[in-house]
Amino acid sequence: MRNVLVVNAGSSSIKYQLIEAETGIRQASGLVERIGEASGHIVHRGVETEERDIVAPDHTAAFTAMLDAFANAGAAIEALGIVAIGHRVVQGAGEFIAPTLLDDRVAERINALSELAPLHNPGHYQAIVAARHLFPDVPQVAVFDTAFHQSMPASAYTYAIDPAVAADHGIRRYGFHGISHQVVSRRAAEFLGTPLESLKQIVLHLGNGASACAIEGGRSIDTTMGLTPLEGLVMGTRSGDIDPGALLHLLRAGMSTEALDALLNKRSGLIGFTGTGDFRDVRAAADAGDPAAELAIAVMVHRIRHYLGAYLAVLGGADAIVFTAGVGENSAALRAEVCSELEWFGIRLDAERNATRSSEARVISADDSRVAVLVVPTDEEAEIARQTWDLVTA
Ligand code: ADP
Repeated sequence: MRNVLVVNAGSSSIKYQLIEAETGIRQASGLVERIGEASGHIVHRGVETEERDIVAPDHTAAFTAMLDAFANAGAAIEALGIVAIGHRVVQGAGEFIAPTLLDDRVAERINALSELAPLHNPGHYQAIVAARHLFPDVPQVAVFDTAFHQSMPASAYTYAIDPAVAADHGIRRYGFHGISHQVVSRRAAEFLGTPLESLKQIVLHLGNGASACAIEGGRSIDTTMGLTPLEGLVMGTRSGDIDPGALLHLLRAGMSTEALDALLNKRSGLIGFTGTGDFRDVRAAADAGDPAAELAIAVMVHRIRHYLGAYLAVLGGADAIVFTAGVGENSAALRAEVCSELEWFGIRLDAERNATRSSEARVISADDSRVAVLVVPTDEEAEIARQTWDLVTA
């Protein structure tokens, strides 16, 4: 058995999956939470499910809890057949344009990029250090969320500010969710039976985090997230686009940098409007007539349509629009709202296809829709496993 351990670590949590390298079949998955707190927790789903409270003062302890869970669920570490470990890394900036084998230097550079991604890279770095310590003989790979977007042209990634200031501070658009946009656009092409190279696609990744991506021939040419994952669409807890003048205004009014950071990243978007960042709850409240929830969804849909129109122009028309992630895969109502009255653009949903629930890739547009509209489930972990395996066997 040859398995890739996929690690998606934050500063206080580690999500993991064990994926068979050649087939992509998931063998086990789990989540360690509240690392560094007095009381932590692990849920592990292998042959059996195991769930318990633990104490994990650091990421090494969290991995040890994971290994205990594997052993308790019937497979000791030696039997897991881990041939590589793939770490998801949010920010690779301009330095990492492809999956990269981890060594001391690469790990240190990922840590140094924490300046650009203070909410993400520090946790990745801690997990990388711990995993390299615990699995010294297993090759480990960093797979970057930004890498796919390194193909954007300068016109799309440049902010129109003083170039010297921008260069000094690394300020440009990097884009995120690249692993998802890449796997979803590839699977959409496979599903349509059309070479990826000849397709223009707009992928709408709508989960807790949300971003749109314009993809031409399998390459990202524009995306809604920017320097950080804060720009663009309305998200579960993030504002998406806002006039930077509003931030200056709040700073001048005396709001601290930390308070502003928390406002935009944790208390905006759906949760800011309604008190919950979970789309299902917001939808239920809107359906029951709650005006705040109705406005939240209206703003969210308006923003998605705004970028849909923008990317139709950026691409010069599209062959496919692809919905993915929690909201995109599951909410027929939202998909219908996003695609309403777009016949002029050659976009027309089939109501029955859209309403049919499935966990498979599917077309939801009408037969006479010039643009194919699809739902394609994302699988970032399988993609990380694939890219990791490809690199270590190259
Ligand atoms: P992330 O991976 O960014 O944490 P997901 O892709 O899992 O997020 O998406 C989570 C979002 O998907 C939540 O807002 C949740 O309410 C929404 N969601 C999940 N299932 C459904 C459903 N059946 N209908 C509508 N929304 C759903």
